[in-house]
Amino acid sequence: MSRLSNKICLITGAAQGIGLATAETFAREGATVIVADLKPEAVAAAVRRCQGLGAQAEGHALDVTERERVDAVVAQVLARHGRIDVLVNNAGITQDARLQKMTIEQFDRVIDVNLRGVFHCAQAVADAMVRQGHGVILNASSVVGLYGNFGQTNYAASKFGVIGFTKTWARELGPKGIRVNAVAPGFIETPILGTIPDKVLEEMRQRVPLHRLGRPEEIASVYAFLASDDASYVNGAVIEVSGGMSV
Ligand code: NAD
Repeated sequence: MSRLSNKICLITGAAQGIGLATAETFAREGATVIVADLKPEAVAAAVRRCQGLGAQAEGHALDVTERERVDAVVAQVLARHGRIDVLVNNAGITQDARLQKMTIEQFDRVIDVNLRGVFHCAQAVADAMVRQGHGVILNASSVVGLYGNFGQTNYAASKFGVIGFTKTWARELGPKGIRVNAVAPGFIETPILGTIPDKVLEEMRQRVPLHRLGRPEEIASVYAFLASDDASYVNGAVIEVSGGMSV
């Protein structure tokens, strides 16, 4: 199956976890994969993995909070490929603390990466997508962006915010041929869960009707669907992928 043949797909935070799984799934679907993440060595390793799957792939060291760098990477991709068909705004972080303990630094950093970073990347590709007359923007929200979570004031605000972006951009850009959607994963086994105690993770497993956490590929496959023409009438949607955690 090659649903993403010849599509130029820029994925942020693609060096590990859900982003890497998405890069690999897109590679298998025939995409040209542009890996963007903080550390050059990790970016290069992710690029090699995509190339090993037979895909065209390239990498860029990128901190999504640095607007000039975001613009520079987008300009390089456009100069080389002439267009960007899909942007996956996947980069995200947590810095957890209860409301009374959260520092301003923790609050600002999470908002900077998870919210401002998504804004930077979407704004940087929007003109090109409008010129092209097509494009797909996919945003990483979370079940925490639907229901909130203990200890995650900053993260919950950012992930609720991403849903606001998604619905706003779906309205603004839909008439220009651009679809914008969000995915709200439940608890997925990646390094981001590293700070959550085992006891809490076990409680999560029990809360999920499938009695397990998700795998990164199970989010990647939803991004691949949304990126593809199979989702040609899906716009402004927030798709929860949580094993039924909220039912
Ligand atoms: P992860 O920590 O495994 O990977 C995140 C990646 O983003 C890393 O490679 C990291 O280097 C990169 N990154 C961090 N800050 C960056 C920045 N400023 N600029 C560019 N890249 C940056 O996390 P993950 O679990 O794969 O999560 C990916 C996305 O999915 C995040 O937005 C996260 O909030 C969201 N999400 C994850 C889960 C989960 O349970 N794992 C659940 C819901 C939502």
